[in-house]
Amino acid sequence: MRVILASSEVVPFAKTGGLADVAGVLPRELEKLGHDVSIFLPAYQSIDRKLHEIKDANISFEIPIGDRLVAGKLLETVLPDSHVKVFLVEQPGYFNRDSFYGQSGKDFSDNCERFTFFCRAILESLIQRGEAPDLIHCNDWQTGLIPAVLKTDYNHHSCFEATRTLLTIHNLAYQGLFDYEKMAITGMAAKYFNWQQVEFFGKLNLLKTGIVFADMINTVSPTYAREIREPEQGCGLEGVLQERSGQLTGILNGIDVDDWNPETDPFLEENYSSNFNVHAGNPGKLVCKQALQKEANLKQDPEIPLIGIVGRLASQKGWPLILPVMKEFLENMNAQWVVLGTGDPNYHQQLETLQQKYPDKLGLNLGFSNEFAHRIEAGSDMFLMPSQYEPCGLNQMYSMAYGTVPIVRRTGGLADTVVNATHETCEYGTANGFCFDEFTEEALRTAVKSALQMYNDHRPIWNQLMQAGMKRDWSWRRSAKQYEELYRRTIQC
Ligand code: ADP
Repeated sequence: MRVILASSEVVPFAKTGGLADVAGVLPRELEKLGHDVSIFLPAYQSIDRKLHEIKDANISFEIPIGDRLVAGKLLETVLPDSHVKVFLVEQPGYFNRDSFYGQSGKDFSDNCERFTFFCRAILESLIQRGEAPDLIHCNDWQTGLIPAVLKTDYNHHSCFEATRTLLTIHNLAYQGLFDYEKMAITGMAAKYFNWQQVEFFGKLNLLKTGIVFADMINTVSPTYAREIREPEQGCGLEGVLQERSGQLTGILNGIDVDDWNPETDPFLEENYSSNFNVHAGNPGKLVCKQALQKEANLKQDPEIPLIGIVGRLASQKGWPLILPVMKEFLENMNAQWVVLGTGDPNYHQQLETLQQKYPDKLGLNLGFSNEFAHRIEAGSDMFLMPSQYEPCGLNQMYSMAYGTVPIVRRTGGLADTVVNATHETCEYGTANGFCFDEFTEEALRTAVKSALQMYNDHRPIWNQLMQAGMKRDWSWRRSAKQYEELYRRTIQC
């Protein structure tokens, strides 16, 4: 298959979130499966031209933006460790900025222009290169215009006769909403501005545009694909998603198993594997636990259960529940906590207060540290992730790969990856964590108590849970095979 992947972020060139991982890792895996994949992303100024050996692709274009023509050109390089071509859309006025989408918490006012330019430049480049892709894989609102322009302006263009589109939604909360006046910028005829197509309560919605016009749609987990069809998590788009539910599926993201592998991880005190005796425990992981206790200034005792948390300090991640429950457990239970994260200043302050009160039970790092994140995943016994919603989530998969038992709320990707420990699942050997349903303190408290009880009283079963998580395949290879299948179905539709 000849596939074009269009994304506003791609690792290792530009990243703010999980979208970049999908866009940077999936093409490499698809190439291994024998497909011809190229990537398009904007040529942001932060991308190091020398480091990535970026050269001119000898293609330039003039893109209509409203009643103006805006010039740009194409650059090219290769995705590291692959032959995947990466094309960068250069337009200094749009992309030579200090950040990708906005500044000081405000979106750039010309984001509609910037990403209209990006989408149309991709199609113009493909025409000039004489490429007729089987599929254009679009990602999030920034590329939502592509399916629409293909079905309108380019409807009869020979280059795209057989081209189909797939739109992946990484987080429904970001929709690319603009005032009606921006319709002219996109070049879409005014007749499309209606509630069944691109309009969302009087505004232009570029994610909705993609959802309406794409041949196929997917999200980053099967459960999230179901949840977003309901008002609670549909962010106002549940109606259109329901309408298109026959074309909406979910594929779990993978994790980078080269970066996140306890057997080779260079940041750990000792490396360890999933091959251990459940009656004896995992000695390598225990070394990591003691090293973590030391690093976090906690009492170095291998028997005290250690609960880790890494991630944004945002209410989405369950902090309104975590804080009161953590406070209670710090007071009453023999358990230690390590928290790494940044975010809401209110949570920072509450955590600092708790840490001052319980310095020997709570280790706190209110910063961003990839290395420390690795050591928390390795050294903790359990990992807490009681998210309100979670399109996919990576940390629970890192945890399980490292033999750290996750305690999660049953939502989105968490529901699809964590198998709750019950009598049956423990017996069948499928259990790998603890799940709860209600977004309440009580439900979280009960789940943490169950985990502590199993850890303290039934260690061989606990070790079995650890091992089940470590042995499951969390790699991108698995996801890539599912995307391959989805691409096939999209092309045939
Ligand atoms: P989300 O994308 O919603 O923030 P995910 O679990 O999907 O949540 O991914 C978060 C990623 O960011 C993980 O790789 C996690 O380890 C990392 N991360 C978040 N906060 C920090 C931090 N303070 N230090 C190091 N890594 C962090």
